[in-house]
Amino acid sequence: MRIARFSIDGNVAFGAVEGESPPGSTDGLVLDIIKGIPFADFELSGTKVPLSKVRLLPPVLPNKVVAFGRNYAEHAKEMGGEVPDAPFAFFKPSTSVIGSGDDIAYPSFTEELHHEAELAVVIGRMCREVPRERVKDVILGYTCANDVTARDVQRREKQWARAKGFDSSCPLGPWVETDLDPSDLTIQCTVNGRQRQLGRTSEMIHSIEDLIVNITEAMTLLPGDVILTGTPAGVGPLSDGDEVAVTIEGIGTLTNKVVKRG
Ligand code: MG
Repeated sequence: MRIARFSIDGNVAFGAVEGESPPGSTDGLVLDIIKGIPFADFELSGTKVPLSKVRLLPPVLPNKVVAFGRNYAEHAKEMGGEVPDAPFAFFKPSTSVIGSGDDIAYPSFTEELHHEAELAVVIGRMCREVPRERVKDVILGYTCANDVTARDVQRREKQWARAKGFDSSCPLGPWVETDLDPSDLTIQCTVNGRQRQLGRTSEMIHSIEDLIVNITEAMTLLPGDVILTGTPAGVGPLSDGDEVAVTIEGIGTLTNKVVKRG
């Protein structure tokens, strides 16, 4: 099931996305409004609205986004670094999250904004110290993410709070796909329709199981928390006015425009 979060007439709701649409379009898609929330038992109301009539919101409001770095060998190479033996994580704050269709605000303190297409894992239940064989039980589903990065600031500053944590640096969406085998999916990033990144999730160095075992050794994950699993090679610059799109096989396309103010 594809679960979207959206606003309609000033109200926020979750809905199951039904129907098929051509790539990059929402024509023909309908939302069946969910009674309750997707993190507990819920029912479909049967009340349906065309997706084109609503504003999509980030599919979840995470308490925290835990992002893993250098999890694709080719990307680690292009960053001039070695492949880490163990996974390493950093945070993106809840205030960095935006939905599909929202603008990425180009920060004033960088001159080198980069896209990073990533598969995002959405946590479905409170969990800690999750054993490998139970990882699938704590996952609600998967969505597309862009780990937008101020690359010059990342190089300059030891901690990445500013470089990767500024407002609008974590586009998520367009929705959460709950029925998906994430082990070998095409992941792609385009800028203004031109391909920049293309990889497969099977190229991850540390698997989703490894990443969730690793982070839950240290901390409790809450329903709606998001894990970013690293980006394939091909990261590159974004400019004012660019349209950046992350497409993952079996999920859909997350699209955002870059806007420089002032
Ligand atoms: Mg990243």
